[in-house]
Amino acid sequence: MATNRTFTMIKPDAVQNGHIGNILAMITNGGFKIVSLKLTQLTVADAQEFYAVHAARPFYGELVEFMSRGPIVAAILEKDNAVEDFRTLIGATNPAEAAEGTIRKAYATSIGENAVHGSDSDENAAIEGAFHFAGREQF
Ligand code: UDP
Ligand code: MG
Repeated sequence: MATNRTFTMIKPDAVQNGHIGNILAMITNGGFKIVSLKLTQLTVADAQEFYAVHAARPFYGELVEFMSRGPIVAAILEKDNAVEDFRTLIGATNPAEAAEGTIRKAYATSIGENAVHGSDSDENAAIEGAFHFAGREQF
């Protein structure tokens, strides 16, 4: 069953660089409703679990270190076709390839420190949302 929700994180680089407000504005201006929202920080173990699918990749250690090094904003977002439309709004993983007008084009500094996460499927959106938010925190 297709859902109309996706999950995002504003990553430690973008939080540290003061972009929370501007990124949330791009998200809401893009037609997404905020269903859940919090400022939090991943432990090393949290980051390892969240990105377990990438455990065999050469960048995994660096990714875990980066994602746990400072606070993040976690959010569940709602919109028709949320997963695909949010991937369009954030742009390519590598900011050098991200389209004009995307969040990563505006705020990512490298392929690793790329400002935001966006779920890649409805199934992962549900898993990732539940990783961060209890049912009573989803509105
Ligand atoms: N990443 C990296 N180097 C790479 C590819 C990815 O450091 O060559 C990091 C980057 O932060 C990326 C995350 O690992 O956002 C997850 O990678 P994925 O391929 O799932 O990209 P995304 O779905 O975030 O665009
Ligand atoms: Mg991904």
